[in-house]
Amino acid sequence: MGIKMATGLVYHELCMWHDAGNVSSFVPTGLQVQPDRHAEEPETKRRIRNLLEVSGLLGKLELIQPEPAEIAQIARVHPQSYIDRIKEKSRSGGGEVGLNTFIGNEGFDIARISTGGAISVMDRVLDGRVRNGYALVRPPGHHARPDEAMGFCVFANAPIAIREMQKKYQLDRIAIVDWDAHHGNGSEEIFYEDPAVLTISLHQNNLFPIGSGAMSANGAGRGEGYNINVPLPPGSGRGAYEAAFERVVIPALRAYRPQLIVVCSGFDACGLDPLARLMLHSSAYATLTRQLMHCADDVCQGRIAMVHEGGYSRALAPYCGLAVMETLSGIRTKVTDPFDEYVSGFGGQDLQPHQETIIEEARGLLKKKFA
Ligand SMILES: [Zn+2]
Repeated sequence: MGIKMATGLVYHELCMWHDAGNVSSFVPTGLQVQPDRHAEEPETKRRIRNLLEVSGLLGKLELIQPEPAEIAQIARVHPQSYIDRIKEKSRSGGGEVGLNTFIGNEGFDIARISTGGAISVMDRVLDGRVRNGYALVRPPGHHARPDEAMGFCVFANAPIAIREMQKKYQLDRIAIVDWDAHHGNGSEEIFYEDPAVLTISLHQNNLFPIGSGAMSANGAGRGEGYNINVPLPPGSGRGAYEAAFERVVIPALRAYRPQLIVVCSGFDACGLDPLARLMLHSSAYATLTRQLMHCADDVCQGRIAMVHEGGYSRALAPYCGLAVMETLSGIRTKVTDPFDEYVSGFGGQDLQPHQETIIEEARGLLKKKFA
């Protein structure tokens, strides 16, 4: 191979114009809650893109313009009545469409671009125009249920894109690794009885949605064994994540041999995030990315497509994003993360016994399907 293929980046400014609603963090404002920024605001994501530019990496990436997802593509996951409901709300000025979830005026079309971004990045990876890629889109998607918007998510971006890829490329094994701090409940539900999609979610135990993401939820019917939850205790950091990857995520992927690895990527597992209590840092995200790449090189010609989910630290999310993009592209920039030494030094970054208990229990799940 003489030509080293580039890493793709999907970005569209209209995604940043998505209006997540007038709330304080994620609760509605009122007489007792002063209006403030929504946690899922554009600036966190825009700052990721801006740091890529300032670092010089942006110019070395293959920039991918997303097309809005077609209604027929969205309808493979969401019923038409749900799509119509989102469209009507969007056409009448916007408003609340689900738990903690708002959409602005014309937000329907922005949400379609976000979903289209997930489709574009997977398509480019599979047709070989890029080696791997990242869709930096919003609104996010991993909480969206077929007929219910929730957790800032409107359309199930990654699952819709996966359905499109299955059809276009006749794939029968795709894996989702969801490292967002919250449980990927939407992806879990959509593929719960489907062995053609292995869903793995690492998340803070019982963070959001409440009561969701237990290890006992392991898939059903023909999909039994093909949904793996690793509910990590609050305070989990680099050691817990690396152990979970080495003992659960990577062995599951190697046994399943997906034709494409999709990462639902949230940077809210970082140590400065306001919405979660985990302790990752940019160099830890780089390590996890490297582990996935080694595995992907062995099982699916390196095909990794990442789709952005959460991540609410305006300060640290950009450096986590840069670390992932540097690793995916194999290009180191001169930018160093000024927070990395600080967060990586937090107490308890090494694997703790109570975390190991959970990870070992999750490893036990693999024996049923993948031993
Ligand atoms: Zn999240």
